[in-house]
Amino acid sequence: MAAQQDYYQTLGVARDAGEDDIRKAYRKLARKHHPDLNPGDKAAEDRFKKVQEAYDVLSDPKKKTMYDQYGFYSENGMPSGAGPGGPRGPNMGFGGFDFSDAFTRGGAGSRPRQHEETANFQDIFSQWFGRAGAEPTPAPEKGSDLEYGLSIDFWQAIKGTQVRLNINRQEVCATCGGSGAAKTGGNTVCPECNGSGNVTQAAGAMRFSLTCPRCNGSGRLHNACPTCHGDGRISTSETVDVRIPPGAQQGSRLRVAGKGNAGTHGAPPGDLYITVRVEPHPFFRRDGDDIEITVPVRIDEAGLGTKIEVPTIDGRALLKIPQGTKNGQKFRLRDKGVLNGRTNTRGDQIIEIAIDAPVVQDERTKEILREYGQLHPEDLRAEMWSKV
Ligand SMILES: [Zn+2]
Ligand SMILES: [Zn+2]
Repeated sequence: MAAQQDYYQTLGVARDAGEDDIRKAYRKLARKHHPDLNPGDKAAEDRFKKVQEAYDVLSDPKKKTMYDQYGFYSENGMPSGAGPGGPRGPNMGFGGFDFSDAFTRGGAGSRPRQHEETANFQDIFSQWFGRAGAEPTPAPEKGSDLEYGLSIDFWQAIKGTQVRLNINRQEVCATCGGSGAAKTGGNTVCPECNGSGNVTQAAGAMRFSLTCPRCNGSGRLHNACPTCHGDGRISTSETVDVRIPPGAQQGSRLRVAGKGNAGTHGAPPGDLYITVRVEPHPFFRRDGDDIEITVPVRIDEAGLGTKIEVPTIDGRALLKIPQGTKNGQKFRLRDKGVLNGRTNTRGDQIIEIAIDAPVVQDERTKEILREYGQLHPEDLRAEMWSKV
């Protein structure tokens, strides 16, 4: 909405002008600026509209009272008792909020401040009632993006996969081609208010009942497409085939262009974003493109050294365990990790050794271990004690 005009100034009358003076001033100006007398003159047309708007408010006692009090008048914000169940009375149903507080600083008598105060109030007002003063035909708006979560298992993430998703999205209405208008004058229930003619809006703790801005309180929409009720879009359920590339990681996001909600009035659609969740594997762990695995090793294998078979995502691989391998020691198998679809390179597999102490029950093993102890009486904690 453009800056609020001063209706008295527009009509060129004093603020205390009577009904007759206002009417006379209006007629004089309306004749002067009438489009028929000023063909093609855009400025005259604008002036004519302003004069009409000013007269519309100042000639109506209710509107005039509100304008005099608050410095502006709005159909949407403060309906003058219009619409069933609409707000009425001196507080206009605004839950007792005292609007005059917002204006008293300027005071009714101080003309120069009046405009400024009005502007402030209008800012507040338009925040509460986003639609107040909105263009009759909304500007085209890009469709919103859609977010979907997708769970895939470990192997699907590594090898890549194709999934079919069932998504709910807003599609361009086929009946009206997205215009929202009926081909032949339709008459449908207003979807904004469900035909009641009123909508409720909340601002903080306050709730307001307003005349529905979509249908102006009539509860019906004329010339609205019967399929989409003038929205130009309808909700559909659609299957989308999505290819998950090899090497997808936990939390990776895939974009499917154009599969978000349709835009309004021919604007482009949004995109569909799929966030991948990879289910864990019993023993393979992912660290980016690397695979981590913990492998149990016997005490004699670690002590004497050996070669063991370890699982990789390609199958079995041979790993050399050197003599004296420690618990927690890590070995790396190059290029045995995950193939990264972007870089076309593979990560590594990291193998962590977990030395498994035997659960000894038989006498012979006990004897061997006692003998081992006698051969190696050194205190493994000695270094630790030296640093306490
Ligand atoms: Zn339609
Ligand atoms: Zn409505």
